[in-house]
Amino acid sequence: MMIGQETIQRIRDAARIEEVVGEFVTLKKRGASFQACCPFHNEKTPSFHVNPARGIFKCFGCGEAGDSVSFLMKHEHYSYPEALRYLARKYHIEIDEEQPSEEERQRQSERDALFHLTEFAQQYFADILYNDEEGRSVGLSYLHSRGLTDGVIRKFGLGYCKDEWTDFTDHARRSGYSDEVLTKTGLTVFKEEAGRAYDRFRARVMFPIFSISGRVLGFSGRVLTSGKQSAKYVNSPESDIYTKGNSLYGLYQARQAISRQDKCYLVEGNVDVVSMFMSGVENTVASCGTALTTQQIRLIKRYTTHVTVLYDGDAAGIKATLKAVDLLFAEGMHVRMVLFPDGDDPDSYAQKYGSEQLQRYLAEHEENFLLYRMRVAGDEIRRDPIRKAELENAIVHSIALVPDPLERSEYVVQCASIFAVSDQTLTTLVAKAIARQRQQPSQAAPAVTTGPDGPSVVSETPSPIQDGASAPQQAAPVGEVSPQEHKLISLLVCHGHQSIPAGRVADLIVKDLEDDELQFDHPVLQRIFNLFQQALQAGQPLPDANFFARTDDTAMRNMALEMLMSGYTISPRWKDKHIYVPTPEERLAADVVESVLSFKARKVEQRMQSVDMQLKTCTDEEVMFQLLAEKNELKKLHIAIGHGALHRIIT
Ligand SMILES: [Zn+2]
Repeated sequence: MMIGQETIQRIRDAARIEEVVGEFVTLKKRGASFQACCPFHNEKTPSFHVNPARGIFKCFGCGEAGDSVSFLMKHEHYSYPEALRYLARKYHIEIDEEQPSEEERQRQSERDALFHLTEFAQQYFADILYNDEEGRSVGLSYLHSRGLTDGVIRKFGLGYCKDEWTDFTDHARRSGYSDEVLTKTGLTVFKEEAGRAYDRFRARVMFPIFSISGRVLGFSGRVLTSGKQSAKYVNSPESDIYTKGNSLYGLYQARQAISRQDKCYLVEGNVDVVSMFMSGVENTVASCGTALTTQQIRLIKRYTTHVTVLYDGDAAGIKATLKAVDLLFAEGMHVRMVLFPDGDDPDSYAQKYGSEQLQRYLAEHEENFLLYRMRVAGDEIRRDPIRKAELENAIVHSIALVPDPLERSEYVVQCASIFAVSDQTLTTLVAKAIARQRQQPSQAAPAVTTGPDGPSVVSETPSPIQDGASAPQQAAPVGEVSPQEHKLISLLVCHGHQSIPAGRVADLIVKDLEDDELQFDHPVLQRIFNLFQQALQAGQPLPDANFFARTDDTAMRNMALEMLMSGYTISPRWKDKHIYVPTPEERLAADVVESVLSFKARKVEQRMQSVDMQLKTCTDEEVMFQLLAEKNELKKLHIAIGHGALHRIIT
């Protein structure tokens, strides 16, 4: 689903900054502009200004600034396309999503019908909870008995579905909802053989599952009576609007806290989420009755890269989540964990000891997940030495998933001491594991910023270019390696000597970067690049494995050898993108172009981030206007780089 440039312009033109911001912040008119207390930092006297004539906002306290779109991205954590769609809905602009076909239009109206019903149902169940005799005596008294306040119950939109066969279904039918829509959302189950219908969630407390923009996707219903032959939780079946693996319970309510605290707690059950929230730990989500998926991790990643997994204290629980943790590593998340005392989960712990103790427990018992696992493995080996190889393999596999080479090498050192093997042996094992993992079809997000669609259209995938101020990708601090830089140097090290139709790979890359006078952020990568540059200038042979193995520069030796060991895998993605690139040589050529361009795209993004930083500290409206103009230019440049990629690869 793409939004065309023209429509984007129409949306931006229609958006009135004071109306957009006014939805979330109470604005007071002061002359030609508006003022308010800033929604992005705590303050008592208003320093947040909105200028309708220029369509921008600026906080003179914390420095946040931008337009309607960036306000929504920052405040509501929308992706760029989500912010545009929000504005399009608000201003009744039809989105020409590349001329939807009749089929797509039909599908959209069907989805709308499902959303209408789930929102209607959520309101109905919430109403029953408070205004119906059974709702109050069964549902509400249960929630109150769990210590939940009315404020939290409302915040999560909780409700109750009565213990009658068709109470909800009848009400929905009377309100004009068709049996077809009732079936599709799964709220009503039709028993064909019996020829009758019943409420799927009857006699259950209802936990609505929200999208991150606050729409009701489905429900999770918890049974209250024990001993019956019914499952504790029943979830909505998958539908056109609800895919289990694509949503996280509680994220809608937790998202601001996650981003503020730069950390997300991951728990098992919905009740745990609400209970943690009640205890003042508002940055908590649950994976909604499925094993954690990559899509869910990417949702979290919009707000933070730090995840703390909370376990109840049984070993089975830990085993079950190991796979989830590997997925977290593969997405570049920093994983910590808290183990609860035997038999307790976050909810029961909070019930027993209260919120202060829960918060203290979390703070005191949090530890790095891989280090924890290594320690436990060390204990197991002492008890049962035969399992050493097996445990070592499992941990090497996890270390290999960590994307940052420096972080990885720290784990290698720790792990080597626990397993009593040399760092070198372990480095080799990890490198082999990386090579194996790269051979498998990767589902990790590509580091490139351009696709065959080019960035001139906005796709559903959040693009790294979004908005420097709120994009999760900040400039890499020293020590961290950006994937674009790493990829480009890896290509140079592994394939520099090879020739493609346009020339030798090393010549092409070095020349292209020299022309634009571009530097690497990472000092080691820069040193490797310099070596190639010097070799070319002096007409000497390119540095090879022998050279790197002998160099005294330890950091460079380690990095280059790791690249050579894990090998540069020529992108298999061309096939997925339906770009036909037949021979390995041509694929290499395409990769060279793509790597250089995505390296450049990142440089433009960094400049944009720096402009955003200046915008934050800027107090002069004129200067701010210039900076916003420069940002606009950079966005265009970024798009041009994308077009370059497409053009040069296809022709
Ligand atoms: Zn502020």
